[in-house]
Amino acid sequence: MELRPIHMVDVVGQYKKIKPEIDDVVQRVLNSGQYILGKEVTEFENEIANYLGVKYGIGCASGTDALQVAMMALGIGPGDEVVTTPFTFVATTETIVLLGAKPVYVDIDPKTFNIDPALVEAAITSRTKAIIPVHLYGQSCDMDPLMAVANKHKIPVIEDMCQAIGADYKGKKVGGIGAMGAISFFPSKNLGAFGDAGMVVTNDQALAEKLRMIVVHGSRVRYKHEVIGVNSRLDALQAAKLRVKMRYLDEWIAARQTAARWYDKGFAGTGVTTPFIASYGTHVFHQYTVRIKAKRDKAAEQLAAQKIPHAIYYPIPLHKQEAYLPMTDASHAMPVTDEATAEVLSLPMHTELDEQQIAHIVNAVREAVR
Ligand SMILES: *Cc1c(COP(=O)(O)O)cnc(C)c1O
Repeated sequence: MELRPIHMVDVVGQYKKIKPEIDDVVQRVLNSGQYILGKEVTEFENEIANYLGVKYGIGCASGTDALQVAMMALGIGPGDEVVTTPFTFVATTETIVLLGAKPVYVDIDPKTFNIDPALVEAAITSRTKAIIPVHLYGQSCDMDPLMAVANKHKIPVIEDMCQAIGADYKGKKVGGIGAMGAISFFPSKNLGAFGDAGMVVTNDQALAEKLRMIVVHGSRVRYKHEVIGVNSRLDALQAAKLRVKMRYLDEWIAARQTAARWYDKGFAGTGVTTPFIASYGTHVFHQYTVRIKAKRDKAAEQLAAQKIPHAIYYPIPLHKQEAYLPMTDASHAMPVTDEATAEVLSLPMHTELDEQQIAHIVNAVREAVR
């Protein structure tokens, strides 16, 4: 069989498999005249909340906005500190800083790449207003010790679950463990829209009501503004398409896990460190990220030479990003993060990969590390 072209993500391939269903709901929404919020959005919010086992879902325009409005609901602003991880996408730090607060970084666990709960308490001060752990690459942080510290100091936790929808922690889905969960439906995420979309989930009724106001200009009665808000609404078109895709989410997670097992098998005995799966939960493989000591860049070059897509998530950790240096403590040494930055390599991961493609990718990496 001829090798099919390899993509890092395959949003078109996934769309083609469910095209009639998607096209059908697009027509339904276009004909309805309700393009922002409305029934599709409400139904989708309820479906996500049910799936995650939480009480409320509040749609918004992106995962980044989900983080921002979640912090706004907690009243975070100038003078406040938010404890978070430096090894992630920029959105967490960006939204903290936009609200006038200061990110305080805590180094990561070398196996899961997630915030190290044992180091969190030392980062807490009287100004700490939230802790934002990120469930990176599709695997939960170790939430029990993290929640123990947070509860002891009465600090709310916002789970950045943008990469981990559907992942379990001790039999419970992530998102409902902290005070709020922030979800992204960016097209390449495990549940991806056809554009930008996001949601905040929570079990707290007061927070849910506040979030509902914040995403529509701080208002629940039109032209009456009770709190400072933003314009961050979920489009009906995205909600309708996501409702279709949601029915496939568990199947798609299983396809990612199967692809991960093929990779794991291929890398056995090569010195390439395959993703660690903590015994406390499941991994939904938003990314399949290996660690390669010393030869990571050589492996990346080899993949590039064979035109195999790959990526480094993330090449510059947040505590070293130029834009944020003025509000970052120089004393923040993050040795585990720095080491991970030099060794991680993310390989193609999506629902449409086959075993032959994965064998081809594995062989290219194996050649480089031999
Ligand atoms: C994608 C992502 C975000 C931002 O989501 P958008 O929908 O792109 O705004 C935030 N945090 C993490 C960890 C992400 O992966």
